[in-house]
Amino acid sequence: MSKSRRNYEDSYRHKGLRKQLMDIIREKGISDEAVLAAMNNVPRHFFLDTAMDNIAYEDRAFPIAEGQTISQPYTVAYQTELLQLKPHDKVLEIGTGSMYQASVLAEMGARVYTIERQKVLFDKTKDYFFKQKYPHLKFFYGDGYLGLPTFAPFDKILITAAAPYIPSQLVDQLKVGGKMVVPLDEDDQQRMLRITRNADGTIAEEAFSRFSFVPMLTGKNGN
Ligand code: SAH
Repeated sequence: MSKSRRNYEDSYRHKGLRKQLMDIIREKGISDEAVLAAMNNVPRHFFLDTAMDNIAYEDRAFPIAEGQTISQPYTVAYQTELLQLKPHDKVLEIGTGSMYQASVLAEMGARVYTIERQKVLFDKTKDYFFKQKYPHLKFFYGDGYLGLPTFAPFDKILITAAAPYIPSQLVDQLKVGGKMVVPLDEDDQQRMLRITRNADGTIAEEAFSRFSFVPMLTGKNGN
């Protein structure tokens, strides 16, 4: 049970702070205006405990339940930009967490399938505030390493936890020409990679900056 019941109000103050945050992210190098516009439309404080209202628009990761985190806004922007979304792209996200990243993808017009392995976090998705606004966002409880074979193939796959290797079952669920953005373990951090699936079954890899994510774990936690 949450400490305080959230009042879903997006005040002028929140909107102002969010706009400032977009400027900070732009200065850090994000140039895709569609990504920035989407993030400017999704009230990040809705995805955090009310106690964090005053800090929700700092460019930082924050703890959510079960020892997990809501990613830093810059990281959300970075991963989303790398996905090169087209309207109506079918996207699989691994690691629903707070539902913030999934909401940003939905705001961009993607059809989103997101998987979470922590039952406590998945259960929170049942009260998702934007159910009506984003009918093409679907939540699943399961092990992201397995993906969602029933709904495959996907145009894009986004992994939001630190992957120890590139999960081959997820590569198999990409369309030809489809792309997967994955933070892959490198020393004590992760290297952001973008994988493209070729027609002959091979993959092309592009490497980007380093980030820090919580680990991508095997199996489900809960019942
Ligand atoms: N996208 C999230 C970030 C959450 S942090 C957000 O916007 O808030 C990463 C999440 O990945 C955690 O919630 C963690 O429980 C989840 N996770 C880790 N391994 C997983 C797996 N194998 N399958 C599905 N979710 C996983």
